[in-house]
Amino acid sequence: MSCLFCKIIEGSIPSAAIYQDELCYAFADINPQAPVHLLVVPREHIVSLAEAGKDHLPLLGHLLGAAAEIARSKDLPKGYRVVVNTGEDGGQTVGHLHLHLLGGRPLAWPPG
Ligand code: 5GP
Ligand code: ZN
Repeated sequence: MSCLFCKIIEGSIPSAAIYQDELCYAFADINPQAPVHLLVVPREHIVSLAEAGKDHLPLLGHLLGAAAEIARSKDLPKGYRVVVNTGEDGGQTVGHLHLHLLGGRPLAWPPG
């Protein structure tokens, strides 16, 4: 298994766990871009949102719901952002689908 996030989920690479359930695992980003910067990843290895199929729709909803639940557990009264970088132009650097949950400061728009 060569996937970085599969290794993190499996525990062979350490991470700061924030939340986990039967379908997903959430942990702190190693290079935070905001006071709160977490990654929510499915336990299933899916390369990116572009590779997710109709069968994955319930899982995608679960991931979004988990991100919202985690955000509720953080102190983010002014809001937050959920980002899914997808593919080369989308700025994806790890080939295992993941949601970024960013918050704790005003986030500029549009992104770079
Ligand atoms: P992407 O650029 O693919 O959207 O996001 C990948 C994220 O994974 C980046 O924000 C990067 O900081 C984070 N990351 C890369 N390697 C590690 C690691 O070993 N541990 C953790 N916790 N995060 C990582
Ligand atoms: Zn993986």
